[in-house]
Amino acid sequence: MSKPSFIRVIIDRAIHRELDYLVPETLADRVGVGSRVRVPFRDKSGLATVVSVLERSEAKGIRSIEAVVGESPILSEQMLELARWISAYYCCPIETVMRSLLPQVIRRAEVGWKKQLFVRPTRKIDNEEIGKLRKRAPRQAELLEAMSRLETPMRAADLLRQTSLDNQTLRALVRRGLAELREEAVIRDPHADEQFIATSNLVMNNEQSLALREVTQALDSPENARPILLHGVTGSGKTEIYLQAIRAALDRGRTASVLVPEISLTPQTVERFKGRFAEAQDAVAVLHSHLSEGERHDEWHKIHSGRARIVIGARSAVFAPLKNLGLIVVDEEHETTYKQEEAPRYHARDVAVVRAKIEKCVVVLGSATPSLESYHNATTGKYRRCHLCGHTAAVPKKCPACGKDALIYAGFGTEKVESTVAHIFPKATVRRMDADSMTRKEAYRETLRSFRTGKIDILVGTQMIAKGLHFPNVTLVGIINADLALHLPDFRAGERTFQLLTQVAGRAGRGETSGEVFVQTYTPFSPSIQFARHHDFAGYFQQELEFRERCDFPPFKHAILITVRSPHEARAKFSAETLVRRFRESLGSKFILGDPTPAPLEKLQGQFRFHILIRGEAIMRLSRLACETLDKLPFPEDVTVAVDVDPYQLL
Ligand code: ADP
Repeated sequence: MSKPSFIRVIIDRAIHRELDYLVPETLADRVGVGSRVRVPFRDKSGLATVVSVLERSEAKGIRSIEAVVGESPILSEQMLELARWISAYYCCPIETVMRSLLPQVIRRAEVGWKKQLFVRPTRKIDNEEIGKLRKRAPRQAELLEAMSRLETPMRAADLLRQTSLDNQTLRALVRRGLAELREEAVIRDPHADEQFIATSNLVMNNEQSLALREVTQALDSPENARPILLHGVTGSGKTEIYLQAIRAALDRGRTASVLVPEISLTPQTVERFKGRFAEAQDAVAVLHSHLSEGERHDEWHKIHSGRARIVIGARSAVFAPLKNLGLIVVDEEHETTYKQEEAPRYHARDVAVVRAKIEKCVVVLGSATPSLESYHNATTGKYRRCHLCGHTAAVPKKCPACGKDALIYAGFGTEKVESTVAHIFPKATVRRMDADSMTRKEAYRETLRSFRTGKIDILVGTQMIAKGLHFPNVTLVGIINADLALHLPDFRAGERTFQLLTQVAGRAGRGETSGEVFVQTYTPFSPSIQFARHHDFAGYFQQELEFRERCDFPPFKHAILITVRSPHEARAKFSAETLVRRFRESLGSKFILGDPTPAPLEKLQGQFRFHILIRGEAIMRLSRLACETLDKLPFPEDVTVAVDVDPYQLL
């Protein structure tokens, strides 16, 4: 390849434009697509990412880049393609997308490695030499002797601690030319002190084998692979399939990433993955929001350098810089936490599907209660549906006289429920689990552990307890105010209620004993409740799909929600009305455009909010038109406009 003379970059600032720069001859060897560079911009300098290498540039008054940052490109061509797709689809400036794609600590110019001093002898030291030194400087001799036994350089601090000698002695040896100190990068690994017990593949049941075969076949011909939807309750063996599917990807020389909702990224989950791939300590990298900057830096580079070949992480792990990606798993794909609620407002499951298409890899979407979108995609053939019956297949033989443990879900007022329960069951150990009582992460784990081991008899909580947890001895579940979510002004309200009820109800009778579920509701005949009662996914989805189709909602039409907000009600309203007028001119008749309406949460944090909902089939076109219209319209300074494509929060 010829050396680049010109490059096009995306600067780290929101200027909504790509810029061309000249590459001085001396730097040309070190610049390529995905490199980070320092460039002059206006009267300052700033960091930027190279998006293409050009032979010539039409730009006037072109300036030279100042420096290349870092050793190698940090973004692959495929990831750039993904960034462009996100920018176009979610109607969001590419600079903002880059911020999500590359963690802050990676984008910085300073090298983020933690360096420590390592020591080693400068040459082979024999006993005679040590003996001579002992006469003049006994402590130096002692240190030299310890050092002469080293096979590899050792951390200076560790050597001094071991020998109980001080830094001065070490420096003296360095001055004599007998010892050499060198700074080396050390890895910050949050799991460094943990031991992972190696596990091996379990023998699969028929359903699991069939599902795994789907995945391995797809791995063998990834060009025409469709996403695979794996439907099975918690405990039905999905994770075991993921583990063996990852092994299959690794065997084919490829890498794998697993996305789980942040709340499910527990030590147990990490242990399961680290344990299965324990043969290489670095093989599994973990990415979540609780990492320190330094840890995130090191995990990222571990992945980027190819040392880690498996990534397990929350939403943003969909951007993990794995090369030669073979498999992406999205567990609990229906979880709304996969949707980022700030720009770029992407949905990690959908981004995973697009990344898979770009990188020609396999996607597995797992869920106990698939989202309507995925279910629809599976039934229409866009996805491939695998079904694991798991424990739900076992019909309870007899009604238990009384449940040993109980789990109670409450929509609100958990404290009140807790005190009532404690009053009615004075001998039982009752614990409450909600966002208030579980501010610390350990509190959450500790409570779940106690509940699992039977130290807590009755657990009272919010939806927190409903999410994918597996308790074999729960025999009774109560759901209070089941239709709370149903009354939210949101077209997904019914679907969410259905998912929640099936999930919570799935908590009961999962072990040896059978279980009962009580639901309190004001609308007992609403479809979400009736179908959940019978665990009838197909029935529920069918009627819900009919409703969505008739009302032009997803998955039949895409939606874009625009929120206009301002501390001044009149200004917000006026801006929203002006915007709708412009949309009427620019969008044409193919799209359904409503009038601006006050948002259900009309005033939030001192801001008045108005909503505009646009629906249509050709989402890329709609996003582009919406962006162009918005770009052309000057808004008053205190008016903010947010665009949410495929919105999940309509409040
Ligand atoms: P899920 O991911 O669907 O919740 P898991 O894969 O975690 O399900 O399986 C639940 C439990 O069943 C785990 O303890 C797992 O080790 C065990 N398990 C899964 N598959 C098998 C199998 N084929 N044979 C024996 N035990 C299994």
